[in-house]
This record gives sequence, C-alpha cells and structure tokens, in this order.
Amino acid sequence: MKFDFRGAALKVNQEDFPAGFESSREARIARQRLGTALEQGGESGRRLAYLLGNCGLGPCRSAACPTCRRHFRLWWGSEISKYVAIDPDYWFTVSIVPQDLFFAIGELNRFNWDHIKDRLRKQIARNFAGDVIAVGAFDYALQIFDDGRHPKWRPHIYLLFQGGAKNQIERSLGRYYPNDDDTPRPIVVTPQRTNDEDRIKTATYSFKSSFYQRVPIIDRRGNADTEKRPLEQAQEAELALLLHRQGYLGRIIRYGRDDAFPLLTMR
Ligand SMILES: [Zn+2]
Repeated sequence: MKFDFRGAALKVNQEDFPAGFESSREARIARQRLGTALEQGGESGRRLAYLLGNCGLGPCRSAACPTCRRHFRLWWGSEISKYVAIDPDYWFTVSIVPQDLFFAIGELNRFNWDHIKDRLRKQIARNFAGDVIAVGAFDYALQIFDDGRHPKWRPHIYLLFQGGAKNQIERSLGRYYPNDDDTPRPIVVTPQRTNDEDRIKTATYSFKSSFYQRVPIIDRRGNADTEKRPLEQAQEAELALLLHRQGYLGRIIRYGRDDAFPLLTMR
C-alpha cells in the first residue's frame, strides 16, 4: 500500500479522537514489548523484531507495528468518520464470527484471508441491491476453553455497514454464518448513533490495535460470559507475524463504491 503514514496522521485533528485512543508513547511501549516477544519467535520473529526496533526515524510500515498502526488508525478513523457524517443514517456495525474459521496455536499462518473476503463480498452482492457500503477489517482473538480443550485462534470480521435494515442484515448474512457451541453469536448487528465522538470510536474499532484472549467466566448473575485477558508473549509474536505478512491491505475489508469515499478504492 502506498500509504504516507506520518503525513496522513499529521493531517488528522487528534483532539477529535476519544480519550482512550492510544498515545504515541503507548504505541512505542507496545512496540518495544512486542520486539521482546518476537526475539523468542525464531528467525522470522527476530527479523520482524529488528524491523520494528528501527521504526522511528522513518516508519517501518509493518501492519504488526503499533506505531505505524497508530498512524494508520488515525487516518482510517478520521476518513471513515468524515464519510459517515455526510449521510449519518442507516449505518450499522456488523460483527461476524465464522464458525468454520479457527486455528490451533502455531497454525495461524494458515489463515487464507482472501478466501474469507471473497466469500463475504459474494454474500453481500447476492443479498443487497447496488449501493451498499461496507468497510472494516479482520480482528483476532484467542478463544480459551474451560473443558480441557486447546485454545483456538478466532479471526473474525468487524464492519461498518450502510444499507438495508438491522433485521435484513441479520437474516440475509446470518444464514451463511450458523452458530455452534463455540460460536454462540456469530453475527451481531448494531445500529449506530451519530455524534462525532461515537463515529470516530466506531471507525477505529473497525481496525483494532489490541488483541486478547477470551476466557470463559460465569458473571455475577450466574450466566456464562467471556472476559478479556492479555495474550502470552509467544501468542503475541505469532499474531504479529501474521499481521505483518497480511499487511494493511490484506487486513482491511471493503465493499461498494462511492467517489466521495476514496478509502474504498485506494491501493
Ligand atoms: Zn513501524
């Protein structure tokens, strides 16, 4: 991707971003911590650690780099939020967890993201008339079990979606994504509120920069739920190697066309 990381971030008014958005200092600390984790990740891990270690004077451009990713997210969040503001009604967030998409630890490098994206684009095309817009990215979590089974990497999809209605999206896309015991809510569609801060927050959620384990818990009312816990170093390193290979273009998911929204077609 011919993307000007630093220039793009400088053009953004960072004061519009929510208070929880990572600072450049936090991104630098995350980059150093990831470098330490990658040092133990074999030859390819050490190569990536070296690349991230030299990010600073010039951007390293890696999609695994917390500093470059912060610049990208500033631009991404601001571009999407500006576009949504033009016509703020009928936007939804759509999260999709394909029940057939999981990998054992050490196997995440087998993820074929292009296949999942092509499949999703065909599903949207088959169910919606021309002017649907969808923009988002893959997110990643490590699903932990309390029944003795090994954890699973769960790549999943998070989109901002304009077109159709909540029920229609749930019904038409939901039929491709059935639930199972490990995937109780494969599709969640949420209508979006439209103030500036919400818009930016939602847009930055569609390209996350923190990744977690999801651990089963029983909540205070006695219901089964999950809780986020930090990834272990080796898990962080495995995910970083995938993100690096996937790149920004590989990770983002886009559908539709509108000349007022160049982000949809940029390469
Ligand atoms: Zn970098």
